[in-house]
Amino acid sequence: MNKLQHNELGNTGIKVTEFCLGVLPMGPLQSDLPEGKCLEIINQAIDLGVNFFDTAEGYKTQPYMGRVLTKNRGDLVVSTKSPAKTYDDMAASVEKSMTELRTDYIDIYHIHSARDGTEVFEERKGALQRLHELKQQQVIRAVGIATHNVKVVSAAAERDDIDVLFVLVNKIGMGIVGGTTAEMVAAIEKAATAGKGLYVMKALAGGNLLSDYNEALSWARRLKGVNSVSVGVVSIKELLQNLKYFGLQTPETEAVSSEIAIKEKKLFILERQCTGCGACVEACPNDALFLEGEKAKANHENCILCGYCSPECPDFLMRLT
Ligand code: SF4
Ligand code: SF4
Repeated sequence: MNKLQHNELGNTGIKVTEFCLGVLPMGPLQSDLPEGKCLEIINQAIDLGVNFFDTAEGYKTQPYMGRVLTKNRGDLVVSTKSPAKTYDDMAASVEKSMTELRTDYIDIYHIHSARDGTEVFEERKGALQRLHELKQQQVIRAVGIATHNVKVVSAAAERDDIDVLFVLVNKIGMGIVGGTTAEMVAAIEKAATAGKGLYVMKALAGGNLLSDYNEALSWARRLKGVNSVSVGVVSIKELLQNLKYFGLQTPETEAVSSEIAIKEKKLFILERQCTGCGACVEACPNDALFLEGEKAKANHENCILCGYCSPECPDFLMRLT
């Protein structure tokens, strides 16, 4: 196949490549690649036909996408997200996103929710209202929610104000909250049946399933109702290997080996300097951090390497290496 498969995101009319490039791992929260390197990876993905890119206000990678959107806006689909709760805060977030993305419309704008339960819809009513107004004004094409929670997926399936879901799922259930893996799979199917667009994150459980790469990604791709799978990469080689796995046959993908040799990452805390402020513990959506003797410690079994903790540390003591 010399072209990636394209799928429609539910009933949105938005067509995306089955491979979505997750722009979190290359950015400041994780690998912190130089901007030029990030642009090289993103541009190579575009040249090879990837049209779907996932970022977020909190990932601090919107400006990278902004650099490429000035040239290719009409051909690309960009999703971004904000943790804003109120109407005014969401209005400000969307303004910031449009400035950083250098665009006058955004394809998919998510409520960035992670572990929250179904109360999120009430707590962020104002934010959701603003997104809807912007959709009516054609500033946003689709409103979404990014979640790790089974109950939120199930509830979103029944709501008219959510068009797209970005859902955490993987075959070992790592990071899923509010239910089992089987219950998440059922909730995804329910949402798809209701016409929602669905794409998934953490199919490789933040790198914990790298040794089982093919089966872990195949499992996610086979899920009924999943239109696209978001995978983060931090090098051209990783990008090409992933595209090869997704069936793209080009001279570039044929030149890389199929054997995935992506470096396994781990969270590292510079404990000696830790003041025990607890900000990182608060920020972790997966109960992977705790305080012991006034020092932050990691429970690596729960860590999905999302990187949400590191920007919260006032002393920059957390690294994903
Ligand atoms: S400790 Fe928590 S917030 Fe930090 S990378 Fe791991 S899962 Fe993400
Ligand atoms: S945020 Fe930083 S200083 Fe505070 S507990 Fe975590 S690692 Fe320690």
